[in-house]
Amino acid sequence: MLDLIIIGGGPAGLTAAIYAGRSRLETLLIEKLAVGGRILMSETIENYPGFPGGVSTQELMGRMEAQVKELGVKIVSDEVLDLDCHKKTVKVTNEIYQARAVIIASGARPRKLNIPGEEKYTGRGVSYCATCDGPFFKEKKVVIVGGGNAVAEEAIYLSRFASSVSVIHRRQDLRAAAILQEKMQENKKINFILSSVVTGIKGLQKVEAVTIKDVASGKEKDFNCDGVFIYIGYEPETTFLKGKLGMDEAGFMVTDENMATSAEGVFACGDCRKKGLYQVINACADGAVAADSAYKFIAAKGK
Ligand code: NAP
Repeated sequence: MLDLIIIGGGPAGLTAAIYAGRSRLETLLIEKLAVGGRILMSETIENYPGFPGGVSTQELMGRMEAQVKELGVKIVSDEVLDLDCHKKTVKVTNEIYQARAVIIASGARPRKLNIPGEEKYTGRGVSYCATCDGPFFKEKKVVIVGGGNAVAEEAIYLSRFASSVSVIHRRQDLRAAAILQEKMQENKKINFILSSVVTGIKGLQKVEAVTIKDVASGKEKDFNCDGVFIYIGYEPETTFLKGKLGMDEAGFMVTDENMATSAEGVFACGDCRKKGLYQVINACADGAVAADSAYKFIAAKGK
């Protein structure tokens, strides 16, 4: 039997793995996509301490992964289908693993607008990842939907390629950090369509326009564009845990300050957890606390 299974290989899961490895817990980390997590959907991170001018997310996450491997923690690429909180068994595609403790660091996935055309044109002009798809929009006209930090950072990134970037936000004020709003205002390629929502995405083979509704008047008009980037927040990757562990109505895991969930020996950390601030820095901090709690739990139970 393993000591610890960590579900998810983003900043929270990788940090938990570093702490677990240093405590010499026999640990398995399971990641269904790329090790590094959702932060890899951004090109750089500017507010991770120690990197004036920012650091490439590939580099930062690559370093965390190397640190995990150096400690002998095994990483497997697979999707977790089920967790038995009592037996601490984790079912993946063709295997069932068992451990003394489990840490859930499953992160979050991009929220969808759920409007006509969104699904049809995903990969044909609709994208949730500017870093992945931005370079395909050289000298093209793109729109980006949302008003948070992600929109601000990605609008600036997209302006490197696109001929224009129109930020469409449902309110008059953006919620992005002031420093990012300043950078957007200074950028000549970025313009704003405020108090407006996108109600549909149109085209033939690929995106050709979005329908925009003015919130105040209710009037709709088509706006020609080649790309639609959607950054309206995230939903926790916790569907496989529904009914098994305490969560809020949106599916974020409820934990105490030690990252303990409602099940003994099962901990949760990072973006899948209900908290007030979603940043790489506190995802890492969550991961450290979760690993420490798991270590103490295992030590108290005895092997
Ligand atoms: P966010 O901060 O939750 O903002 C989502 C934005 O989308 C909000 O402006 C919201 O509008 C809008 N929105 C939500 N649902 C919508 C809908 N159905 N239709 C139209 N608009 C909708 O999400 P985020 O920017 O993706 O960031 C997620 C988390 O990561 C946040 O905690 C953020 O601070 C963090 N993050 C931090 C950084 C950084 O620090 N550099 C970078 C990226 C992300 P309202 O404003 O009206 O609610």
